[in-house]
Amino acid sequence: MPTLLLHPPTHNPHPNTVHSLARTHIQNPLHTPCALEQSECNAYSFEIMGVLGEIALMVDRLPTWAAPKPVSKNIMTLTDEVYVHHEPLGVVLVIGAWNYPFVLIMQPLIGAIAAGNAVVIKPSEISENTAKLVAELIPQYIDKDLYPVINGGVKETTELLKERFDHIFYTGSSQVGKIVMEAAAKHLTPVTLELGGKSPCYIDKDCNIEIACRRVTWGKYLNCGQTCIAPDYILCDQSIQNKIVENIKKTLKEFHGEDIKKSPDYERIINKHHFKRLVTLLEGQKIAYGGETEEASCFIAPTILTDVSPESRIMKEEIFGPLLPIVTIKSADEAIQFINQREKPLALYLFSNDKKLIKRMISETSSGGVTANDVIMHYTLPDLPFGGVGNSGMGNYHGRHSFETFSHRRSCLIKSLTMESMNKIRYPPNSQRKLDWAKFFFLKRFNKGRLGLIALALLGAILAAVIKVAYF
Ligand code: NAD
Repeated sequence: MPTLLLHPPTHNPHPNTVHSLARTHIQNPLHTPCALEQSECNAYSFEIMGVLGEIALMVDRLPTWAAPKPVSKNIMTLTDEVYVHHEPLGVVLVIGAWNYPFVLIMQPLIGAIAAGNAVVIKPSEISENTAKLVAELIPQYIDKDLYPVINGGVKETTELLKERFDHIFYTGSSQVGKIVMEAAAKHLTPVTLELGGKSPCYIDKDCNIEIACRRVTWGKYLNCGQTCIAPDYILCDQSIQNKIVENIKKTLKEFHGEDIKKSPDYERIINKHHFKRLVTLLEGQKIAYGGETEEASCFIAPTILTDVSPESRIMKEEIFGPLLPIVTIKSADEAIQFINQREKPLALYLFSNDKKLIKRMISETSSGGVTANDVIMHYTLPDLPFGGVGNSGMGNYHGRHSFETFSHRRSCLIKSLTMESMNKIRYPPNSQRKLDWAKFFFLKRFNKGRLGLIALALLGAILAAVIKVAYF
C-alpha cells in the first residue's frame, strides 16, 4: 500500500506564492492569453480555504472512516467476524480543469492520498502558471515517485490515458469526459467524471426577490461566471422579470461600484478563445444590462439578457461566463417540465417562500445537487457528495465521499473452523429437509435489539445441536 511520505520542503516558498500563483489564470499556449488575474481574496476563499478545510477534516476523521465496519450477521455467521474493509484502489489519475485550477487538483488528491493510493496528477495546461506551481510544490512535500505531476496538453493527456490506472478522476467538459471514459474502458478502469452543464435557477413569484437576486448575482458573476455550478440561466414568470433585472443591477453596483472594470473583485475571461465564444453567444439577444466587452483584456461586463428563446444558441450550451439569460415560464410546473426536457444539470437552484413547492420541485426533477434559496452553497458542505448525474457526470467526492470514491470496499468474512454441523445443510447429498432448514436460516428475519440477538444466539445453538443429531 503506498504511504504518504511527508518531508520538509527543500526550500521554503514565500507564504504568498501559493496564493499569488494559484490565482493566476494565465499564459495559455493554445490561445492568446489575457493579462488579468483572478481576485486575490476570491482565490484564497475558493482555491485555498477549501483545501485547508479538507485536509483538517481528513486528519480528524480518517481513523474512523478507515476502521473496519462490522455489518449485520445471519444465523450461519453468528460467531464469525463480518466487516467491510476499505482498501486503496492502487494508482489514480487526477485530471484537473482550469477554472479553479488549484482546488480541482488538490481536493481529489487529498481524498486519494487519504485512501492510500498513489496518484498521477495532471493539472490543466490552460492555467499554465498554476500547473507549474503544482509541479514545483508537490515534490517538495510528498514523495515524487508516488505523486508525480505530469504537465502538458491534449497530446500528453492522450498518451497518459493509454496507461492502465486503477481509477481516473476527471474534471472538465462533458465532451472530453466521453474521451476519458472511452480510454478508461479499454482497461476496465472505473472513472469519476466531474463535468458541467447548464444549471437552472428558478425564481418563484412568492419569494423575496431582492435577497434572491443578491445571492444569484454573487454566484453567477463569481470568477466572471467561470464556475461549474454557477446558475446558468433564470426561469421566472414574465411579471417578475423586470424586477429581477433591476435587483441584479442594484446588487452589482453594491458589490463593485459604478465602474465594474475597476473593481478588484471582478475577474476576466480565461483567454481569447473563450472571450470570442461568449461574445458570439450575445448575437441576436436582447441585452437588458451590461454587454460591454474589451478583447484586449478579455473583459466582459456582467450581462443580463431578457425574453431569451429556449431555442437560441445561448440556451443550447453551457455559458461558463458572465452572461445571464432569463427565460420566462408561466408556472412552476412549466419550470419542472423545462428542466426535465434537458440534460440533467450539475446543480439546480430554487427560490421560493413555499417549502412544499421546493420539495415538490426537488422530487420531480434530477440534478447533481440542489440548493434552495441560495446558490453554490451545497458545494461547501463536505458531508454532501459533490458530483453530477447523467450528462453532468458520475461519481462524487468531498470529505468522506472522496475517501469512499478512492477506496475499494472489500467484504470480509472470517469464519472459525468450528460449528461444522451447521454447514451440513449446504453439503451434498441434498434433500427437501435440508432445503427447508436452509430457507429458515437464510430467509427468516429476526427483530434487532439485545434480546433479539440473545434469542438468535440461543436458537443458533439449538439448531446446531438439532442438525448434528439429524445429519450425523
Ligand atoms: P480544460 O480545457 O482545462 O480540460 C480539462 C482537462 O482535460 C485538462 O487537464 C486537459 O488537459 C484535458 N483535456 C482537454 N482536452 C482533452 C482531450 N481531447 N483528450 C484528453 N484530455 C483532454 O477544461 P474545460 O474542459 O474547458 O473545463 C470546463 C468544463 O469543466 C466546464 O464544462 C465546467 O462546467 C466543467 N467543470 C466541472 C467541474 C465539476 O466539479 N463538476 C469543475 C470545474 C469545471
